[in-house]
Amino acid sequence: MARYTGPVCKLCRREGEKLYLKGARCFSPKCALEKRNYAPGVHGRAQSARSERGSDYSRQLRAKQRARRTYGVLERQFRRYYSDALRKRGLTGLNLLQLLELRLDNVVYRLGLADSRAQARQLVNHGHFTVNGIKADIPSMILKVGDSVTLREGSAKLDFFKDMAEVAEKRASSLWLDRDLGKMSGKVTRFPERAEIDGTLDEQLIVEYYSR
Ligand code: SF4
Repeated sequence: MARYTGPVCKLCRREGEKLYLKGARCFSPKCALEKRNYAPGVHGRAQSARSERGSDYSRQLRAKQRARRTYGVLERQFRRYYSDALRKRGLTGLNLLQLLELRLDNVVYRLGLADSRAQARQLVNHGHFTVNGIKADIPSMILKVGDSVTLREGSAKLDFFKDMAEVAEKRASSLWLDRDLGKMSGKVTRFPERAEIDGTLDEQLIVEYYSR
């Protein structure tokens, strides 16, 4: 599945807030947003000022782009998630966020086994994880309640994952996941609740964007 390969800090600057796309760097003074908190490009400052007093459409568009970029999903796939969310029972906005949270790369990130979603995506792509005991290398795979994600035995011997296990101990895992760091694994115990998902995302505006 295709992915965005351009400079990611520009995405945060465009949205005017940290999307935490670069792991540890996002928490350091090197964060691009700390130095240049306005949209990228020659007209960046003017654009940022304009978007602050933007139209309904621009607010809806920005909400959709923010969610899409946070989870590293391209437009066509994001629209597909929206169609799936629409077909499911319940609130479309919440369904959409839950689908995004249940992506395999996001679950690896939420378990604390990667610094960022982009890194989680790469680790999954390289075949380091299994889902219910079967090798899974598709980051966009949507997990179900009861599914278990485990680091493969061979991968656990790599220095990278030994270091990651130490770092992960200091990170909290999401409450809807049952994490076992001894086995470098985690199980989806239930759907995430709205309060457990990024509060800066506005699913209502996303639904409005696609309902135009
Ligand atoms: Fe965004 Fe992280 Fe880059 Fe800061 S360092 S601009 S939070 S991706």
